[in-house]
Order: sequence, then structure tokens, then C-alpha cells
Amino acid sequence: MNLKEHIKSSTRNVIISRVCTFLEKNPEKNVDKLFQLITKLAKDKESKLAITSIDTYYHEIPSVKELIQNILTSTNPEFLKKFFINFLGNAIWSGGEKRKNILLAENTKVPFALLISPSMKCNLHCSGCYAAKYDKSKGLTYDEVDRIIGEARDLGIHYMIILGGEPFFVDFMYDIYKKYNDVLFTPFTNGTLFTPEVADKLASLNNVMPMFSLEGFKEETDSRRGDGTFDMVMNGMDLLKERGIPFGVSSATSTHNMNTVTSDAFIDMLIKKGSKMNWYFMYMPVGEGINIDNMLKPDQRIELGRRTKNIRNTKPYFTIDFFNDAPYVGGCIAGKYYCHINATGDVEPCIFAHIACDNVKTKPLIDIFRSELFKELRSRQPYNKNMLMPCMMIDNTNVIREVSKKVKAFTTENSGISMLYDKTFQSKLDKLSSEYKPYADKAWEEDFHSKGNDDFSKG
Ligand code: SF4
Repeated sequence: MNLKEHIKSSTRNVIISRVCTFLEKNPEKNVDKLFQLITKLAKDKESKLAITSIDTYYHEIPSVKELIQNILTSTNPEFLKKFFINFLGNAIWSGGEKRKNILLAENTKVPFALLISPSMKCNLHCSGCYAAKYDKSKGLTYDEVDRIIGEARDLGIHYMIILGGEPFFVDFMYDIYKKYNDVLFTPFTNGTLFTPEVADKLASLNNVMPMFSLEGFKEETDSRRGDGTFDMVMNGMDLLKERGIPFGVSSATSTHNMNTVTSDAFIDMLIKKGSKMNWYFMYMPVGEGINIDNMLKPDQRIELGRRTKNIRNTKPYFTIDFFNDAPYVGGCIAGKYYCHINATGDVEPCIFAHIACDNVKTKPLIDIFRSELFKELRSRQPYNKNMLMPCMMIDNTNVIREVSKKVKAFTTENSGISMLYDKTFQSKLDKLSSEYKPYADKAWEEDFHSKGNDDFSKG
């Protein structure tokens, strides 16, 4: 960081800290000051648009107001300050400016978020895990992760999601979290390794916001993840709640648990436990023991979108449906707003798309963002005018096949091979896509008036 950047960043942090102090004293009264500040900080139109929407929701939807007030009053003040500095000040303001400059200078899109799986080692063996078939003996070293995160941060990426494997299995990640204290980290965890010591470490860092994987109540979670898992997750939540560390839940959603994970009882239980949000990921035909029958039926897929929207509009709880919220971000975000670095260093455009052209061990990150794979995907996005059919693997099945062939992508695990070369598997996916289309077309018209966020589509 040069002197000018340093002065800018220090001034910004002082302003944010001052607003946080106001918030601490009177969140109800001072939250508008926060929105004004964030709008001023945002440098790119995507961020400004997102902030304006949150501001509008805050004032118009009582449950959103309740959620934001709850976050402001229940979160440890030091965490809150760090969150605003890292997410708003760094990821949106200064990071947004850096990413925008690179885009303008050379038409290379640096993603907003980076997903990294430092290791595939895990203490559980969950059915249907997208990661189950990766080689567990491999993993990135501390030096490699350090280099990747340093490069990403210098390119303006200040939001990183840590996957695996089980992120809390990798001890050196605590050193990474500490070293990159200007980055917000979200590890997706099975929640079985939480102890008071782990929670204390997180409380001393203030830049790590875990997401617990839960497929429902005890019965559903333990049947997929193993006996006792649910209770350990509940314990992990209690430990974080006591320390004012915010956290959320991620739910892999299949035909079997769709009703449970979107039920009032489940959401109310999570609100009570202190969770602030749910991230829903529809079961995808990747990973171990692929079973297409687990995938949501066309009507269930649409229903998931409607229910998650209803939850966030009526309860003090934020929900994201990775697929049905695609219209708000212009369709598929693979290789444009995010990408995934797996434990061998291969850089995949999407966590579910097991293809790559480059390995980060042999190339700087910026050269990978400049690659044909990322540019080709971006040039084709959105793949479909109907953004309720955003995906290159299950909705627009030709895209992953054509793009991979054109840019000579290699597969990063077995389900990538099935997706690219197994004709029987491909025809099953084609059939699913054509069965889903009439449902998606109807919902696109009824729920979205056939309009998504076109500005976001091209990045
Ligand atoms: S490829 Fe599919 S799963 Fe991946 S980001 Fe795009 S829409 Fe989502």
C-alpha cells in the first residue's frame, strides 16, 4: 500500500469506527447514518444498487428492520467494527475501486469473492457431498494459501469463503485469518470441532463469520452427516452466540429435506439459536454417489425460491437461494463474481463445476482471471434470458460442454468427467432441464415479470 492509499484507508477506517460508535449508542436512531456512509463509500454501480435495495427494505419491511437491529445489538462491537471496515470499507469501497480499474484497463473481471478449499480432509463422510470425490491426501500448504490470499487481497478481493474438507481441521488457517485482518472470512463448517477455545480464538480475531452446515433437525442432519452431528452444531452456535460472533447456516436442499429446511419450525429454531441467515444450495449432481432423484423436482425448485423469499420478507432472518436468487445478480456468477480454488490449486469457475484450465501453483491469480475460460463464460452470461434457468450444468447443459471443449478445460474430479463425456449422464441432465423449463418460464413471468438484473449480467 502506498502512502496515498494508506492515508485514504486510515481516514475511511476512522469514519467507519465513528459511525460504529454512534450505532453502539443508539442503533435505532443512527442506522440511517450508516446507510448514508455506505452509499458514499460504494464506488461501483453494483454496490450502490445493492445498498439502496437494503436501505429500502430496511425502511419498508418490518422484519428486515428487526433483523438489522438485532444484528447491531447482539454482535460484539469489535466484530461489528471490523465487519464494517472489511466488508464495506475494503471489499466494497477500496476493493471495488481496484477491481473496477482492472476491468476498465484490460476488460478482466476480478471476482468479488474467492472460495478456497485449503484441504479436503474432513472428519465426516456426508452423502452427496460435492467435495467427497476429491483426493483427500492433497492440500495446499500455508505458504501457498498465504500467497493466494495475498495476491487476491492486492487485487481488491476482501471477501473469502473457506471450504474443504472441514476448514477447522486446518490449523494454519488461524494464522491466515490473523495475518489478513483486512479480509472477511466465512468458513463453511460441519460444526463438529467447536470448543470454547476455538470460539475464543474466533472472538479474538473478529474477521471470521462461520456458516454451519445443517440439513434440518437432528434426524435429517445426523442421517446425512452421522450421529451426534446436530448436537455438536447446536453447541457451536451457543459458543458463538455467547461471544457475539455472528454466524449463519448453509442447507444442502434435496427432495427429502426441502419442506423441513424451509419450515417455520426450522427457521424459528435457528433464529432462537442466534443464526442470522440461511444459504440454500439445491442438491447438485456432483460429488459422491450422484443420485439424480435427490434433485429437487421442477415444482419444488420454484417453491424453494418462493419460500426463501417469503422467509426473508416475513421473519427477522436473511435467506439466499443460490439458484432462485440468480435473477437478482444477473444469472450465473461463475468466473465473474466468484471462483473456487480447490485443494490441489486448480481454479474452478464455480464450486459445483469441476473443470479448470489453470492451477494457481503455476500462475499468478490475475493471469487466471485473464484466461479464456473465465472470459468465455463471462461473454456467454447470462446463458438464458430466463434467469431462473441460470446454470451451465443443469439448465443450459450445452454451455459447460461447449466452453470446456473450446478452451480445452480439464476435469478436476470424477463428476466433471461424467458431465463432459458420459452420454447417458448427459441425456439425463438434458431431460431434467427440458422438464424444468415450462415451470421456470411460468415463474419467470409471474414472479419476475421476465426481468432480471441485466446490469449485473455482463459484470
Ligand atoms: S454454474 Fe450453476 S451453480 Fe455455478 S454459479 Fe453458475 S448457476 Fe450457479
